[in-house]
Amino acid sequence: MPIATVNPANGETIKTYEPMDEEELERRLQLAEATFRTYRTTSFAERAALLERAADLLDEDQADIGRVMTTEMGKPVKQARAEAAKCAKAMRWYAAHAEALLADEEPDPSDVTDSGASRAVVRYRPLGPVLAVMPWNFPLWQVVRFAASALMAGNVGLLKHASNVPQTALYLEDLFHRAGFPEGCFQTLLVGSGAIDDILRDERVKAATLTGSEPAGRAVASTAGEMIKKTVLELGGSDPFIVMPSADLDRAAQVAVTARVQNNGQSCIAAKRFIVHADVYDAFAERFVAGMRALTVGDPLEEDTEVGPLASEQGRDDLEELVDDARRGGARVLCGGERPDGPGWYYPPTVVADVTREMRIHREETFGPVATLYRARDLDEAVLIANDSLFGLSSNVWTRDEAEVDRFVRDLEAGGVFVNGMTASHPALPFGGVKRSGYGRELSGHGIREFCNITTVWHG
Ligand code: NAP
Repeated sequence: MPIATVNPANGETIKTYEPMDEEELERRLQLAEATFRTYRTTSFAERAALLERAADLLDEDQADIGRVMTTEMGKPVKQARAEAAKCAKAMRWYAAHAEALLADEEPDPSDVTDSGASRAVVRYRPLGPVLAVMPWNFPLWQVVRFAASALMAGNVGLLKHASNVPQTALYLEDLFHRAGFPEGCFQTLLVGSGAIDDILRDERVKAATLTGSEPAGRAVASTAGEMIKKTVLELGGSDPFIVMPSADLDRAAQVAVTARVQNNGQSCIAAKRFIVHADVYDAFAERFVAGMRALTVGDPLEEDTEVGPLASEQGRDDLEELVDDARRGGARVLCGGERPDGPGWYYPPTVVADVTREMRIHREETFGPVATLYRARDLDEAVLIANDSLFGLSSNVWTRDEAEVDRFVRDLEAGGVFVNGMTASHPALPFGGVKRSGYGRELSGHGIREFCNITTVWHG
């Protein structure tokens, strides 16, 4: 895949980049290692000041970087600016909280005296250069949620961003540089995915985090496993959105539309499978389909656009094939389902009903504005359908019945259960999945501790 900005709204190649050669990669790895040696000794206050400065600069750049993201991957420009704002917020959150999150822990001396210790302390020390392999769908946020915590912990970052968002990737390196971080604290490696294996095998790289697809996660985790290096994997999702009879149906249907089409439907935590209790199935479906039909699809640079094009031609072909396969298997397409004529990789908001287990659309991730609808007899069947997936990222449940909430929280196989709302990430809350959605957590104290050397200090 060439490293290039190709506008998904019209297929035009705007800028192409030569990948960095071996010499340049070597220079950057040396720099990362050398910078880490000194950066690791900086105080939390020093790191926080730099990160706050980066947040301020990002706020100033919001409109410009918003347009760049939209041009590179097609998200509506309003959502691109909101993403930039969210990144600045996360930077400030980690700047304010990292020191407390990584404070020394001192077990009660009476618990450790039988180890011969007069006192013991657990200290969170940084690991070193961490490789971040990132996707294009939230080209700023996916990187910042890693970088903010890594830099506050005293690590340094090496970013291998998706090949279709090179301008955003270079912007990030420049942002941290302008904020005053020492050279080498955060570097962008402009390379294709074929270069990752060698970089990961390099002893100077201590760990890796990957957000992306299952095959990419598997490749990175296998190499890291061979090299005994820690990884965090944030992979795909096919999140259920369960609606029970006591739910506020108007609100549930309205949020369902947003939860499905946010980021043109290309979000790992987008609700993808809508599982509705039989008693309210028709009423919900009617509202949901009406909401999906009413969306404004068009040029992502227009302020009122709600759904833009998919990020790549291949992405649209894959999505279309899932819908066509379901149709051939007997599913009903309640709205959308036909690609429009004309330039750009557009696909309309689509709802597919009467989905069966045999259909690919049931098993695979729909990475675009396509929802599947399921009818459940009762709560047990809703849980069964929800868990009948290889993924386990997050889940959404709509009910006003507390006993039902308890059952869902107990039984849903996912890294999150969002009750009467849609899944969203927040700096203070851990984010990540189970099953094929990956392992490890980002954000919150859990995220910042992933790439720390949790050190036992024992005093005799
Ligand atoms: P992708 O194709 O897996 O790409 C993600 C990153 O991995 C890119 O930098 C890509 O580089 C690299 N990559 C691809 N194949 C690789 C390989 N064999 N070895 C090493 N690196 C490889 O995913 P995507 O299409 O950009 O993103 C969509 C996927 O990401 C979806 O499945 C989505 O659900 C998932 N996602 C998960 C989360 C989460 O937090 N759980 C968040 C967002 C997205 P190139 O671009 O150079 O190929």
